[in-house]
Amino acid sequence: MREGVSLDVLVVGSGAAGLAAAVSAGRAGARVALATKTTLQACNSAKAQGGIQAAFGEDDSPEIHAEDVMRSSHDTANPALVEVLTSEARSAIHWLEELGVDFTRSNGGYRLARCGGATRQRLLQVGDRTGHAITKALRDTYEAEGGAELPKHVLRELAPSDGGWVASFETAAGLVDVEAASVVLAAGGRCFAEAETRGELSTNHPNATGEVTRIAMDAGAETRDLDALQYHPNGGAWPSTMQGYSIPETTRAYGAVLRNVDGEEFTDSLGARDAVSAAIVAEVESGKGVLTPDGRPAVWLDTTRISPEDAQISLPYMLRRYRGAGIDPLAEPIYTYPVLHYQNGGLVISKESETTLDGVFACGEIAGGTHGRNRMMGNSLLECAVFGRRAGKAAAERARA
Ligand SMILES: Cc1cc2nc3c(=O)[nH]c(=O)nc-3n(C[C@H](O)[C@H](O)[C@H](O)COP(=O)(O)OP(=O)(O)OC[C@H]3O[C@@H](n4cnc5c(N)ncnc54)[C@H](O)[C@@H]3O)c2cc1C
Repeated sequence: MREGVSLDVLVVGSGAAGLAAAVSAGRAGARVALATKTTLQACNSAKAQGGIQAAFGEDDSPEIHAEDVMRSSHDTANPALVEVLTSEARSAIHWLEELGVDFTRSNGGYRLARCGGATRQRLLQVGDRTGHAITKALRDTYEAEGGAELPKHVLRELAPSDGGWVASFETAAGLVDVEAASVVLAAGGRCFAEAETRGELSTNHPNATGEVTRIAMDAGAETRDLDALQYHPNGGAWPSTMQGYSIPETTRAYGAVLRNVDGEEFTDSLGARDAVSAAIVAEVESGKGVLTPDGRPAVWLDTTRISPEDAQISLPYMLRRYRGAGIDPLAEPIYTYPVLHYQNGGLVISKESETTLDGVFACGEIAGGTHGRNRMMGNSLLECAVFGRRAGKAAAERARA
């Protein structure tokens, strides 16, 4: 540990990325504290349903996975980061399993689905509560291993100090400074705040407000692709209680298709996210959409094509939510329209997850480059696990240097 600094690694944010970094830094021997805006449970990661990509199929490989990422990003992703993402995917999955994540299995292997933009079946799932299962296992591990927690600490400023960095937090007791030899920023994206500004719906948790990106920029960090925000092609559009809900992309992986007012399929339902979202918007603009009972634009997602067995294994939460709202997606199609979902860009990072600021690391949605300007589904949870683990280890090593 550096002289005069009481903490080796300070992690900001308790989503999958921050939790993975905190566990990994602790296991690398660092004295770690995990600070977060509200409770440790509050984050986008826990809301993730669909799944996490890793090339386990017999016809698949990390190289094919990387090709899919590069193509979906329209060659805007950083190939060096993509190589890390896809080549470490399998070991990240095994690491999560060791921590207690129980991925859904079938026929002696993982139950793999094909997600939008993918050329192979590659999406592992835990039913349709994958993010909940991953964050719970990481949180339980961090707590069991005695990691320090700083809930209700809202980061307001980051400044260099003699021993590393000083982070200023707003707390119920006023402003509190925490000094650490290295810092991992894992505070997620900004789509909740952005949707409020635009007067749109968002799938995001209210804590997804993006100020930590701004704080890092004020400290001198470089960013990329910050203007590239992603729409989830399938936001819930009706009933009103489902507006802004992200209908899992696995509905389409298990057979659901998009239809216009005439019942025609108007696009490849398993295309890349930006292409599917654009096709829905174009269909509505050409007058071939439908209107929800409260007058919102939409198209149909024909979920009646999903087999009851697939739905029961891989979509139980989605079914429960819709049936609770009075609609059975296996008996009738559901209204859908794109909804603001994900910040593709973010802080520039190296393969070790270090930002352009010495000793400041970033992982998860706050970081840019891994997805370029268009992320594939299932690669964000993977990014959190792969780069969270790397960031924690590298930050611990930096604290010792
Ligand atoms: C509904 C939904 C479904 C999704 N489904 C999938 C999926 O199936 N597969 C997939 O790969 N991805 C999915 N995603 C995307 C993915 O879940 C997220 O991009 C990813 O989990 C982000 O993780 P993170 O750790 O970077 O950030 P988050 O999980 O958003 O965590 C950020 C943390 O930082 C904290 N924080 C924010 N600001 C501050 C501050 N100023 N001070 C202190 N703490 C702060 C927050 O409270 C939170 O704890 C989905 C996202 C949503 C919203």
